[in-house]
Amino acid sequence: MTKEKLALEIIGRLKKEYPDAGCTLDYDHAWKLLVSVRLAAQCTDARVNVVVEDLYAKYPDVDALAEADVEDIERIVKPCGLGHSKARDISACMKILKEQYGGKVPDDFDALLKLPGVGRKSANLIMGDVFGKPAIVTDTHCIRLVNRMGLVDGIKEPKKVEMALWKLVPPEEGSDFCHRLVFHGRDVCTARTKPHCESCCLNDICKKAGVE
Ligand code: SF4
Repeated sequence: MTKEKLALEIIGRLKKEYPDAGCTLDYDHAWKLLVSVRLAAQCTDARVNVVVEDLYAKYPDVDALAEADVEDIERIVKPCGLGHSKARDISACMKILKEQYGGKVPDDFDALLKLPGVGRKSANLIMGDVFGKPAIVTDTHCIRLVNRMGLVDGIKEPKKVEMALWKLVPPEEGSDFCHRLVFHGRDVCTARTKPHCESCCLNDICKKAGVE
């Protein structure tokens, strides 16, 4: 099977397996996803979802967070780890949204990439989830799974995985596909334990089935 066909087959099967898979970070405004995605580095989405409740209770909008003391942001977000650099990025990011974008998140990939603390993964997540644009989010689950499945061969660098997947995944499927990889990576194709190939819906087409 070609990689293109394999990708379409995997997309179809994961759709059936996880019909409602979406972003696991809670947000009701685009700027909140920007904050959460920064906090999610080396932290679980579940913990981020709890920590941001305190942050938004005190700073309920972009202007409030842009004006907040960085030390106070750091105190609140500390449970997510890397508190100092995350607080600094969030503060700088909110200031830019306030001063340059009228408090809105820009719907442009390159503009997002220029925001403090926003890399390709975060920019793609926002383009896909907030703006419904084509997106490939290469997080740790995505990279592990597409290598195991045989969609890419031994590529670990996120940008290279992203570029390889753009050639295989129909643009309109990218964002949801990556969310489904997260669910599959947590439940079945796990990182810390042996993957549960015996109960995996992909085990007759996956390159690594039964090997690891
Ligand atoms: S068959 Fe195994 S290695 Fe392949 S995706 Fe499923 S759990 Fe992962």
